Amino acid sequence: MTKPSIYIAYTGGTIGMQQTAQGFAPVAGFLTSHIKTLPEFYHEAMPEFVIKEYDPLIDSANASPADWQLIADDIAANYEDYDGFVILHGTDTMAYTASALSFMLQGLAKPVIITGSQIPLAQPHSDGPSNLSHALYLAANYPAPEVCVFFDKKLLRGNRSTKVHAEDVDAFASPNYPPLFEADSAMLPLPEHQQKALTATNTLSVANISPQPISIFTLYPGVSTELLDTVLQQPIKALILQSYGAGNAPQHANFIDALAAANQRGVIIINLSQCLQGSVNMAVYATGKALADAGVLSGYDMTLEATITKLHFLLSQNMPIAEVKLAMKKNVQGELSDG
Ligand code: ASP
Repeated sequence: MTKPSIYIAYTGGTIGMQQTAQGFAPVAGFLTSHIKTLPEFYHEAMPEFVIKEYDPLIDSANASPADWQLIADDIAANYEDYDGFVILHGTDTMAYTASALSFMLQGLAKPVIITGSQIPLAQPHSDGPSNLSHALYLAANYPAPEVCVFFDKKLLRGNRSTKVHAEDVDAFASPNYPPLFEADSAMLPLPEHQQKALTATNTLSVANISPQPISIFTLYPGVSTELLDTVLQQPIKALILQSYGAGNAPQHANFIDALAAANQRGVIIINLSQCLQGSVNMAVYATGKALADAGVLSGYDMTLEATITKLHFLLSQNMPIAEVKLAMKKNVQGELSDG
């Protein structure tokens, strides 16, 4: 029986970094040569793999939509030749890339698992070898045909994941959706929609993404309407309002009026909660209803990363604003639970 074959793309990030005069930075060739010294990657239970190192390798803090496009196009170019894909990526913007790819890779029927590490692969006690070997093994043996993040024993839906710890190896969480798999537990059956996707004969197509002017406005007690006005005067297409609790904002008339006026001008305003868990429901409190009446849309239980990349994806498709608004409220790739 031929072994599954996995394509590993190293885009940059801590996992392949070395100490340089300027601090830790990715160094070309280092990750590939280091992996060759680690026997666990050549165990008989492991799949065949190739490693493609990007040039340049980047710290993911420098990533932009152009990098999402590069990765999506790379997967598409190699799609027919491999059984699954592992993307090695910096942790800082890993959840953004995972979310963006989930919208861009349409008709995906093979696993795409994004991982990285908090400690460089070649340093003592690194989480890199374990994260990469698990991702590799899962890509070959647990073919969830969607974009996932693997980190510290957990396989998460990519567009539900978020970085929650700056140093700890348990750095990612999926606050509103259970892990797809936990390396400590027995293999979970594939959810029904995934089984369907696996048997589907979809061919992969890549939706292109271009940078979009989107702003984020976080509420805090005493926040002024002038500050909101300054943001809304910018030529933005969408505003993500980080509200309180179930989606509440101060009910001052001028604050709500500013949002209503922006909505009238065609700015798409999405309400996300500052709470890590739970969903926006603007029908609960008067302070939430005022937002809904001003035309603000619920972001339900989406992560900030999923919301920003979904907006990028939809706004890049040249759809009428009304259609973008409709799609923002719908579950497109498993990124939200309501709507
Ligand atoms: N700054 C690094 C990056 O995101 C952090 C990491 O990889 O953990 O590329």
